Amino acid sequence: MTGRVLVVDDILANVKLLEARLSAEYFDVFTAYSGEEALELLRTERVDVVLLDVMMPAMDGFEVCRRIKGSPKTMHVPVVMVTALDQASDKVQGLEAGADDFITKPVDDIALITRVKNLARLKTLNDEMMLRMASGAQIGALPGSAVAWPRTESGGRILLVEDNERVAKRVVGVLGKLHEVHVESDLHAALLHLGDKPYDLLIVSLNLAQADGLRLCSQVRSMERTRHLPIIVIVQPGEEARLLRALDMGVNDYLARPVDRNEVVARVRTQIKRKRHSDYLRDRLEESVELAVTDALTGLHNRRYMETHLAALARRAPPADRFRWCSWTSTTSSRSTTPMGTKPATACCASSPPAFVATPAASIWLAASAARSS
Ligand SMILES: [Mg+2]
Repeated sequence: MTGRVLVVDDILANVKLLEARLSAEYFDVFTAYSGEEALELLRTERVDVVLLDVMMPAMDGFEVCRRIKGSPKTMHVPVVMVTALDQASDKVQGLEAGADDFITKPVDDIALITRVKNLARLKTLNDEMMLRMASGAQIGALPGSAVAWPRTESGGRILLVEDNERVAKRVVGVLGKLHEVHVESDLHAALLHLGDKPYDLLIVSLNLAQADGLRLCSQVRSMERTRHLPIIVIVQPGEEARLLRALDMGVNDYLARPVDRNEVVARVRTQIKRKRHSDYLRDRLEESVELAVTDALTGLHNRRYMETHLAALARRAPPADRFRWCSWTSTTSSRSTTPMGTKPATACCASSPPAFVATPAASIWLAASAARSS
């Protein structure tokens, strides 16, 4: 995963340090030393993520963030505010200005790369959605679209696996106003919940007293139903080895204890947004496939669908069934008639001579089409 990252800081050494770390991970890095320079660069270059210092002369990071989020051209570019460790108020102000995430100085390598990768992926999904919307509008398929654009990242269903009551209460207190949060302390029960109901996000503590949270992450990644579910882990500071294992396993992000309320809000928002964008793209793909094989006027499957499916069904049918209805097609016409028009019958079942439609399969198709149109 690579992307184009813009680093904005008024101190040369900070810019060079971030540039070196990101370049080592194969990101393309742009640099700017003031807010004005950053905004100018965003007007001319495609950027996937902006790393923005808060304290800058002339225009501070909050104002730059507000302007990025206020312009239709750049409002979807994720912004990470680089804040001082002891300035909690910076995070609140950053969130109000529209920031997507935070990293604190001195910048930790794992935090930097995890945040940038997450947001670059989100930007890629967003670009893909915009492209689909634009092409959908161009071919006139958009108004009939059954899948709604995912505009909100609130109202998510979250499963929190945590046996420390104080931490669980704190997380529920922060997220409960925006989302539906279920707390579970037992891994087996958590797996049952996940198999039972659709969730938008899983938050797992890696410091459970009786169980290994990493095992749950691994099981969630291997189950068909949950393999796309975003996962955030809660870790103790200094647990780099376990955190790296979790990230290797496909965990999306992490929160370090003590859990900061503004970081919880920002990270959960990013993951839920990302899940909804991915779901949207997956649903749109299914919708596009449906459009490709359905006649817009009648709502019936079209000839392309029929040819593909009838040929396969005819190949699987027992020989007696395969030829029973040939007389129907051959006596009616030398051309087989389909609900969508006529075409040489040989094309319908090219692999099974005599080359007419095998009618048990045709009757299945006709019944299915009738059911669809009723
Ligand atoms: Mg500064």
